[in-house]
Amino acid sequence: MEKKNIDWGNLGFGYMPTDYRYVSHFKDGAWNAGELTTDSNVVINECAGVLQYAQTCFEGLKAYTTEDGRIVTFRPDLNAERLEQSAVRLRMPVFPKERFLEAVDQVVKANAAFVPPYGSGATLYLRPYMFGSDPVIGVKPATEYQFRILVTPVGPYFKGGVKPLTVRISDLDRAAPHGTGHIKAGLNYAMSLYNIVDAHEQGYDENIYLDPGTRTYIEETGGANIIFVTKDNKVITPKSDSILPSITRRSLMTVAKDYLGLEVEERPVALSEVADFAECGLCGTAAVISPVGKIVDHGREIAFPAGMEKMGPITQKLYDTLTGIQMGRLEAPEGWIREIK
Ligand SMILES: *Cc1c(COP(=O)(O)O)cnc(C)c1O
Repeated sequence: MEKKNIDWGNLGFGYMPTDYRYVSHFKDGAWNAGELTTDSNVVINECAGVLQYAQTCFEGLKAYTTEDGRIVTFRPDLNAERLEQSAVRLRMPVFPKERFLEAVDQVVKANAAFVPPYGSGATLYLRPYMFGSDPVIGVKPATEYQFRILVTPVGPYFKGGVKPLTVRISDLDRAAPHGTGHIKAGLNYAMSLYNIVDAHEQGYDENIYLDPGTRTYIEETGGANIIFVTKDNKVITPKSDSILPSITRRSLMTVAKDYLGLEVEERPVALSEVADFAECGLCGTAAVISPVGKIVDHGREIAFPAGMEKMGPITQKLYDTLTGIQMGRLEAPEGWIREIK
């Protein structure tokens, strides 16, 4: 298969239309067979549920070319399960896991020419999403839905080298107690936009959100979970019902324990103890881990020992091991890698 003529190493993180996307329609209580389409436009009624009451949720995962030239996805079963949880919470019909996995395979295979080659640092980003598509004016769930997957090649996240981030403790919340912080819903992002633009204007890369109930515990950023490394090399991640369960973070905790032999802990992490930690990183599909160099809490600076030039040593090991597994350089735990054939 001939690859597209794309400057893979210089791609950013943006949308580029590819040849095919997947779509299945839900109507009269059932999903239809689903198909690939070349049409990148979605035509829906002006009163569609998604447009009026934001009834939509999504996923994000990547396809990679491994060192030996296979095309693989990383733990797509967990994306299927998380999309199911999001759909249930938003009163949307569940797109079955087996069908989700087949749709991922189908859309990646059809766009194989857009899967960046091994070593380019680029990957194919997949965005599964679903939304209510028929007219809704009284507040209630839609009765018709679309499940779609679009794919787009994205460039290496750390172009020109790793740059540790400066993040601030946010004064706004991203999730309410007993709200929707734990599902991957567009609504959680809409209300974070004001705050991320403000953070950038003030010179910060990200917002760290505190627990919405007491505002004393660390939760996560707008789109990434957080891990900390203690001075005696324990890997800690905050536990809370309003954190989105990141697949990258869950995988990193397994890597820390089973590949690196480190102690791991998922527990509430108070803002007051962060200054004692040795390393901090943000984790998600896009970057795997972005190191945090500095947290600013209303003028009080918490600087981590690794500084502003490079990842901390444990963060680096976690990053190298997980990307090694994804790129097929290291043996993966059972079921983590799904080959597209
Ligand atoms: C998607 C997302 C993450 C990262 O999850 P991954 O499965 O690792 O990509 C973290 N936090 C929020 C709020 C998210 O929406």
